[in-house]
Amino acid sequence: MTATAITNIGELVTNDPEAADLLGVVADAAVVVEGATVAWVGPAAAAPPADQQVDAGGRAVIPGFVDSHSHLVFAGDRAAEFAARMSGEPYAAGGIRRTVAATRAATDEQLTSQVARLVAEMRRQGTTTVEIKSGYGLTAHDEARSLAVARQFTVETTYLGAHVVPDGTTPEEYVALVTGPMLEACAPYARWIDAFCETGAFDADQSRAVLTAGAAAGLRGRLHANQLGPGPGVRLACDLGLTAVDHCTYLSDDDVSALADSGTIATLLAGVEFSTRQPYPDARRLIDAGALVALASDCNPGSCFTSSLPFCVALAVREMRMTPAEALYAATAGGAAALDRDDVGSLLPGKRADLVLLDAPTYVHLAYRPGVPLVAQTWVSGRPV
Ligand SMILES: [Zn+2]
Repeated sequence: MTATAITNIGELVTNDPEAADLLGVVADAAVVVEGATVAWVGPAAAAPPADQQVDAGGRAVIPGFVDSHSHLVFAGDRAAEFAARMSGEPYAAGGIRRTVAATRAATDEQLTSQVARLVAEMRRQGTTTVEIKSGYGLTAHDEARSLAVARQFTVETTYLGAHVVPDGTTPEEYVALVTGPMLEACAPYARWIDAFCETGAFDADQSRAVLTAGAAAGLRGRLHANQLGPGPGVRLACDLGLTAVDHCTYLSDDDVSALADSGTIATLLAGVEFSTRQPYPDARRLIDAGALVALASDCNPGSCFTSSLPFCVALAVREMRMTPAEALYAATAGGAAALDRDDVGSLLPGKRADLVLLDAPTYVHLAYRPGVPLVAQTWVSGRPV
């Protein structure tokens, strides 16, 4: 097997849990990659011989971003809705229905090429693992084909039939469909099940019914909760022992305690607050309480159409009181934890060789230079992409 050494790395972020600092930073470092796997990391002067060398030119190398929350399978565009919102109209969950109509009308080929375009856009910004949800089909057929499209790009696929109740059906009828025939059609293409637990979408009992049915079908649970206002979703997620609960914008002290006392990851989606002009979640409060935090994009056509985790890192630092180190950790190791993955999110021997070379001397530039394209090269499973 060919070994490639990436040498002359000015600053290497490993996320080594044994390190004294959060990010396990190694100065003047090298990484040796064999096939798809990291074989060695450490000081460049101690690097073992390799067949090929890549000179990082003194720049920083970080683990690839792990984006644990996205909605890439959709058709249509909601730029007009965004413009209206920026002119003063409030965000409401109902806009999802416009995307549903466009998605149902699109062919499988159109949906596949849209996802391919967005995944390529993510890779150019350093994302090497992405979770993709359904949720714009809302019929058994359209949810299953959305997941089949997503499956072509990632193993981290999430069945989100419980996104919003479609027109022409009652909530009771729709939950019966989501937990019955639609679940049966979707389960073969999904690893996860999710629900939008929010006023105007699904209440706690309905969300619990969806997650429980998913678990019985072998799917693992995650939840959209406490995005638009206070609610029972975060405590439901902690009670059920879900891997992650996402948004967490409006939290009571009880919600924060529940997160701190559970292993459930709080995934913060700062791009949504940016794009909807809502108050940002208080990451500092969560971290100081001992909760585990991830950052993800929530890339979707309605509430947040960014695919950029560097942008989300910058927002988290500026608007959510995270340090640059905490924000990078949350967007890499945090995202991996939110997907229950131990092979990605860190650069250590045996991990998948997902690396990002930054055009910067330090990862701090991700927040220090917002909006600047800093990703010089991305490798996924040891291959430059
Ligand atoms: Zn979402």
